[in-house]
Amino acid sequence: MELKPGLSALVTGGASGIGKAISLALAQKGVFVTIVDFSEVRGKEVASLIEKENMKFHENLRFPSAIFVKCDVTNASDVVAAFEKHMETYGGLDICINNAGIVTTNLFHKDKTDGTSTWRRTVNVNFVAVIDCTRIAIQMMRFKKKPGVIINLGSASGLYPMYADPIYSGTKGGVVLFTRSLAPLKREGIRVNVLCPEFVQTELSSTVNPKLIDAVGGFMAMEDVVNGAFELIKDESKAGACLWIAQRRGMEYWPSPTEERKYLINSRSKGSVTHIKFPNIRLPHSFEKIVVHTLSHNFRSATKIVQIQFKFPIEPQHALVKIIYAGVNASDVNFSSGRYFSGNAKEVATRLPFDAGFEAVGIVASVGDSVRHVKVGTPVALMTFGSYSEFTMVPAKHLLPVPRPDPEVVAMLTSGLTASISLERAGHMQSGQVVLVTAAAGGTGQFAVQLAKLAGNKVVATCGGERKAALLKSLGVDRVIDYRNEKVKDVLKKEFPKGVDIVYESVGGEMFDLCLNALAVYGRLIVIGMISQYQGEHGWKPLTYTGLCEKILAKSQTVAGFFLVQYAHMWQEHLDRLFDLYASRKLKVAVDPKKFHGLASVADAVEYLHSGESLGKVVVCIDPAFSQQMAKL
Ligand code: NAP
Repeated sequence: MELKPGLSALVTGGASGIGKAISLALAQKGVFVTIVDFSEVRGKEVASLIEKENMKFHENLRFPSAIFVKCDVTNASDVVAAFEKHMETYGGLDICINNAGIVTTNLFHKDKTDGTSTWRRTVNVNFVAVIDCTRIAIQMMRFKKKPGVIINLGSASGLYPMYADPIYSGTKGGVVLFTRSLAPLKREGIRVNVLCPEFVQTELSSTVNPKLIDAVGGFMAMEDVVNGAFELIKDESKAGACLWIAQRRGMEYWPSPTEERKYLINSRSKGSVTHIKFPNIRLPHSFEKIVVHTLSHNFRSATKIVQIQFKFPIEPQHALVKIIYAGVNASDVNFSSGRYFSGNAKEVATRLPFDAGFEAVGIVASVGDSVRHVKVGTPVALMTFGSYSEFTMVPAKHLLPVPRPDPEVVAMLTSGLTASISLERAGHMQSGQVVLVTAAAGGTGQFAVQLAKLAGNKVVATCGGERKAALLKSLGVDRVIDYRNEKVKDVLKKEFPKGVDIVYESVGGEMFDLCLNALAVYGRLIVIGMISQYQGEHGWKPLTYTGLCEKILAKSQTVAGFFLVQYAHMWQEHLDRLFDLYASRKLKVAVDPKKFHGLASVADAVEYLHSGESLGKVVVCIDPAFSQQMAKL
């Protein structure tokens, strides 16, 4: 929802603390606000402050741009009256912030009364009233048939226990799951989200033990909480979302994709539906896949599409996956030339025909009897050979469960993992260094630049073309060198006279030479690949690097090779990290906008990648009809 003048919001507990801050911030966007609070003096004060802010946006209004309604949120009829007053004044309700909350002053198990004035009141204010206000807000939004956003104020203590106030923690935990369970209302245009800040300096937190506040890194800025609320209002994809805001970690959606994945898979009993119900998969009698029939670095002439009959029953440890998106890699042409297999050409030729494609995402269509960690309907990623196929049968242990089978997830596989693992393992990347990335706007380069930046480094990146340079700038690269406009060698010499500390090099040939020359003392050059050599006239001819040993010896440098296949034991861990960074918006994933549909387009996609024109990750949609159904979910 775009925050714009003329929208209206109702804020409970709006007279002070977080409620007041959000109300004033809304007023700065020209939003009309009803302050609902117990405290009349402070409530009226806030309403008049909002009126002042709102004067910038509205002239000659026939109604006040802010009103105060005195109300105890635990009193059901008071609450109804407050909402009715708002509707009467503003004719609708766009935003409802259920913020009123209190802490418990005495430990509940020491309470010898019926708890009415202590813990029971906390439950009523923090939880029962939130349910009540959410209920009324939903009814009013439905009545007006206009989209609306409800934000319930939870707390970090609704995600983790707060031993000092179990009642407060329990009520906030209730608010979190209550709100998350309302995600399906999105279908009616009503988005209910929960905001869970850690400690903010307000009246409520003044009763909390300062040691506890210090232990979580001190008070958070109120501005961060307001930004969180605004994100939940503006981002149309957020419904049933729980945004945790912490001084130490910034904004983070909870549960993280890693947690969510565990929860989704483990909590499903046999035969129950998945959290996201993907369209049913009908198994045809046969399916198509791409095989390499002749060894050649020319992918098109090396491959063909063949028809395969399904073989049932499925082996006990295997799973059948319907592939939705497959990733295209520079090395597809090396695979089709047989380079991935050991032995001489004659020995490799005995393997023909073999399946092509390195990576894909899809949905489990069927499982063998012994398979436990995935079930029919689980979205999965796979990095086994043979992913240019409509279906693939693989040992289930190779499947990596993912939240959704999306193109961005494909990009995180070979491309994302190569960057993530190699910078850590081969590059020993720390912070405060200069990191140079070549072919930086490509599938894997885009991840390398961002991970180097996130680690606190200065990033230099090479690319060919303005579109790519613009992408790299948007990813935060400090110095983009578009080699079509300036000489990489000259820029490095002039602007980085002490050299660069790490090079993520995937072009090879001349680019390798000049990167090596630009390496600082103790520098590490990671050989990721050599795309410029893969498709020479007679295929890939190995080069000899005269003087390499002398060069690296003189400067205590390292040239480290990296091949992802050898790091399979680290894939899941790094994939989870990439997901988490992506979900928390710290990492962007660029997928090339050019559409490739069906297996027949794979050779076009491989050639497109090698044309040098691609931007980000090149992905083929294997089943466009199915992915369209999915996109509607
Ligand atoms: P990519 O970077 O998306 O490849 C396309 C980009 O490479 C082009 O946009 C172009 O960028 C550059 N390029 C293409 N053809 C070229 C040529 N003939 N000469 C010079 N540059 C050329 O592809 P990718 O799949 O992510 O692979 C990138 C590199 O990483 C490859 O060398 C690949 O083998 C390697 N890789 C290695 C591993 C591993 O485990 N070691 C894993 C994945 C990928 P600019 O013109 O903008 O430079």
